[in-house]
Amino acid sequence: MTLKECLNCGRETLAASDILYPSLESEVLLRQALKLSRVQLYLDFDLELNRGQQETFWRLVKRRLKGEPTAYISGHREFYGLDFAVTSGVLIPRPETELLVEKTVSLAKNHDSPVIADIGTGCGAIAISLALELPRAKIYATDISALSLEIAQANCLKHEVTDRVSLLQGNMLESLHESVDFIVSNPPYVKEKEISDDSFEPVLALNGGADGLDLIRRLCHQLDGKLRPGGYLLLEIGQGQKKAVINLLDSLFPLADIEVTSDLNGVDRMISAILTFI
Ligand code: GLN
Repeated sequence: MTLKECLNCGRETLAASDILYPSLESEVLLRQALKLSRVQLYLDFDLELNRGQQETFWRLVKRRLKGEPTAYISGHREFYGLDFAVTSGVLIPRPETELLVEKTVSLAKNHDSPVIADIGTGCGAIAISLALELPRAKIYATDISALSLEIAQANCLKHEVTDRVSLLQGNMLESLHESVDFIVSNPPYVKEKEISDDSFEPVLALNGGADGLDLIRRLCHQLDGKLRPGGYLLLEIGQGQKKAVINLLDSLFPLADIEVTSDLNGVDRMISAILTFI
């Protein structure tokens, strides 16, 4: 079988099992099996693959068919145009989370030296994207999981931002000992009973308790003293959580100026708020 035939066959097999992006995933898996860059793959389309190479590819396809996400199989995920290492110890960054980066960049880019905290950083995707977009920013990235911080550290090294991204271990804002201009977070917000038993992603990164809002509540209650006057809170939220989060913020910060942004699917996905502490 040639490389191109393998690619097509992989795509058809994945499509037959209702995998959402069969072409892309077949390509990523084949590149992973053969350790090829995207360019090499397209240059070597007619390369005849030996038996061992084909077997390696089909082993990866089989893992995918059993539900394992392609990002865990390949060990990579693109986010905000950047490549991040991911393992099963961290949530796989989602495209909709790029909204948080875009909004923070637009608010912080005129700031001389913004200080930003990314709470629950996972693989570090938000913090590192911000560090690269905002060269004068100082960034803290916190996570309760030591494993996440190891992966975030590897990604900071890969993107050469270790001097501007400080990794802190702790529960939400607990380990942040400086007040900052922006607090950005994609916290766990999935309702506990909606997390599937065979989720490959860490439950710790998804589980927001009975109503999905446990960690959002914790974070909001920890805000006092952590945001500078005029500072912003930017939060990713789950479908249907907008009202509850706005009510929570209104009750804690009656003068808050709150904005909601929806993602490309029209789901209210991000809350940004200028908070005033009284
Ligand atoms: N967006 C993720 C999902 O729906 C959840 C991420 C999170 O809890 N922050 O699976």
